Amino acid sequence: MSATESANIVIVGGGIQGLLLAFNLADRGQKDIVVLDAGYWQGGASGRNGTLVRGGFSSTEWTRFFEHSVDQWRGLSRRLGHNVMYTRRGYAIVAESERSSAVLDTALQTHRECGVSSERLSRPRMAQVLPAADQTRIVDMIHLADGGTAPHHAAMKGALTACRKKGVDLRYGTEVTDFERQNGRISAVVCGDTRIDADLVVIAAGAHSADLATKAGVVLDAQPFRIEAMASEPVRPMIGPAVALIDRLTYVHQTARGEIVGGSELAGESAKRNIISTEYVMPRYARHMVDMFPGIARMRILRQWGGMLHPAPDGGPLLGAHPDLESLWFSAGWTYGIAGAPGAADLLAKAIVTGEIDERMRPFAVDRFRRGKPVMEASAVIDNASVG
Ligand SMILES: Cc1cc2nc3c(=O)[nH]c(=O)nc-3n(C[C@H](O)[C@H](O)[C@H](O)COP(=O)(O)OP(=O)(O)OC[C@H]3O[C@@H](n4cnc5c(N)ncnc54)[C@H](O)[C@@H]3O)c2cc1C
Repeated sequence: MSATESANIVIVGGGIQGLLLAFNLADRGQKDIVVLDAGYWQGGASGRNGTLVRGGFSSTEWTRFFEHSVDQWRGLSRRLGHNVMYTRRGYAIVAESERSSAVLDTALQTHRECGVSSERLSRPRMAQVLPAADQTRIVDMIHLADGGTAPHHAAMKGALTACRKKGVDLRYGTEVTDFERQNGRISAVVCGDTRIDADLVVIAAGAHSADLATKAGVVLDAQPFRIEAMASEPVRPMIGPAVALIDRLTYVHQTARGEIVGGSELAGESAKRNIISTEYVMPRYARHMVDMFPGIARMRILRQWGGMLHPAPDGGPLLGAHPDLESLWFSAGWTYGIAGAPGAADLLAKAIVTGEIDERMRPFAVDRFRRGKPVMEASAVIDNASVG
């Protein structure tokens, strides 16, 4: 090693998870925090996502956790001192089958229990909320008043600026290549020929988190999972809320500029280990969109891009300390990592600083699979069969 440094907390990964966690730790008075990122700012999934945010799901665990995150989104601009452009435009969850309608039954019950503001829409209300949709295809619809979108460029800028103001040491272009262990804990993070001694290490490295866990000598139950998204040319407003078409594993919204942005999970595509967009995906996503929103049939697709999720076998996040290495923590396994970022950062920072594991975070413990406690969620636009 040519250089040895030291830090109180090292966070591996400067995406939305790593940055917001660093901010929350600094906000709770932690000093000497270093964020290391192998790539460039916004190079990971946090710079290439759909930006949709919702709190209401069908399971109690997801709903309690993500609703807390939506609460955090609402106050985030004020806390960061930067407009993150969270827009409470509403979120429509659309069912096109009786099976999915039954999922919405469960979701409504869960929302009532968890105090989430949601409404099952009558036929006339469906036509008001999504007038551009082919109403004959819709079997059922829930509208979440507090859901919406958070453009990643604004959220990432806010997080970066706030971290800098708090004195967080942010290093992009700095790959973590290894870890050192001593007495059953991680003692240092290695970046090429530099070693950083650390009291605590958090891996928030998106799709690379499981590989890094292996380097640290522990197993993380998650795998990289490729999806693609697309943006149309800008058009006049036609889709008001953020939308999940749960039978089609498709999500969509219209940006303030008028672009229709969305994507679909497609069988067979997720196993690829690159972020190159494909001609295979474009027409299939377009088919889903034109089926549901016939008016977009003649629109041009302006951009198409790929990115990596990192789902655990149940699609939920992996949060907290690893039971086999007490100084190693994770914010990983993300599928809804934009929606969940402010909530995860808040609860993880609280756990790291106070030792108190919040009940909303506990179900997503890193070791839940070996304890036989997965958290199943049926209303996400990700197929549990393909991540499990
Ligand atoms: C097409 C697409 C659409 C999506 N739509 C939505 C959506 O609508 N709503 C939603 O909530 N979520 C969505 N997501 C998911 C969301 O983007 C992610 O869950 C979230 O960005 C994860 O944030 P992160 O910080 O964990 O990961 P990332 O942003 O990927 O950051 C991880 C960072 O770790 C760094 N890293 C990796 N290896 C190393 C190493 N060895 N050393 C140092 N650094 C390393 C990487 O360079 C990267 O910057 C979508 C994702 C994609 C791809």
